[in-house]
Amino acid sequence: MINETLEKLKELQDILAEKYQIENELKEIPRSLITKTELVSRLKKSFIEKNTKFEETKQKINDVRIHMQDSERDRETYEAKIVDISTQREYEALVKEIKDSSEKEQTFRKELQREEKVLQEMEQAIEREEMLIREQEEELKAEQEKIEQELAKRREKIQEIDVLEKEITPNMDEEIIFKFKRIIRSKQGKGIVPLHKGVCSGCNMILPLQFVNDVRSGQGINFCPYCSMILFFQEAGDEDILETMVYEDTSSIFGDDEMDDDFDSDEDSESGFGDRDELSDIDEDPEEEEDDEDEEEEEEEDAEEELEDDIDAEIDEVEDDAIEEDGEE
Ligand SMILES: [Zn+2]
Repeated sequence: MINETLEKLKELQDILAEKYQIENELKEIPRSLITKTELVSRLKKSFIEKNTKFEETKQKINDVRIHMQDSERDRETYEAKIVDISTQREYEALVKEIKDSSEKEQTFRKELQREEKVLQEMEQAIEREEMLIREQEEELKAEQEKIEQELAKRREKIQEIDVLEKEITPNMDEEIIFKFKRIIRSKQGKGIVPLHKGVCSGCNMILPLQFVNDVRSGQGINFCPYCSMILFFQEAGDEDILETMVYEDTSSIFGDDEMDDDFDSDEDSESGFGDRDELSDIDEDPEEEEDDEDEEEEEEEDAEEELEDDIDAEIDEVEDDAIEEDGEE
């Protein structure tokens, strides 16, 4: 009966390992779109900014034009007055007014020409960027569709696995299945491992003698007190069990009851003894876990920076391309 259950667990392990692998892929695959999505949103932001500047320049041109026309009108008014002049003094004053307004008019005209040139360049840049955004959006859409297909294939596969799973699990202890699934998930697809010379082949820890005997005699389902994997006895290769007799029963040192509870708690098992590979690890500084977390955080930050760099590089690249294309036309 126990053997039958262990065989079923082995089968279950294989299909669940595949299922969890696919589930991870479902999470990872859409990440490849992050760079491109970010690129498109940056281009759009820059496009809006350029448009705002374009409108501002247009407004400025209008203002300059009005000033220029005012000066022009002033000049014309002064010029018309010339015929009514009677004294030399009046004449000189009027000539100065004409000269001043004419200079003003010229200054505004030059400014107007300069700003109109700026506006024209802006218009071209905006057109170029609009095209670039359209191109990038099309590419993004195509990639999204491709990814959607990839995801759909995987979701289908998961459904197939779920059917197989339902064929295996009836009549099995739900609690054991629940615990087993958590172990497989956290141990990269492993959940049931053979006993090897009194050592758990999942975590390489020397197992308590009584525990080894329980596994050997096929009494119930035995979870490794260190890594929580289920252990089974394999006839071949384990005949020299006597070797382990020289080792002391280690369970008292590690308080195996507590360790066995590892997977009963709702917490993730990451911090359990399951990750210890060697006996000596038990003495390790508990702060090491925090160090590990810090490292992970750092890695995440690095990854983010890398992403930023990627996006910057890609923006440069597409902009260069657009300018080149523009030049070719
Ligand atoms: Zn183990």
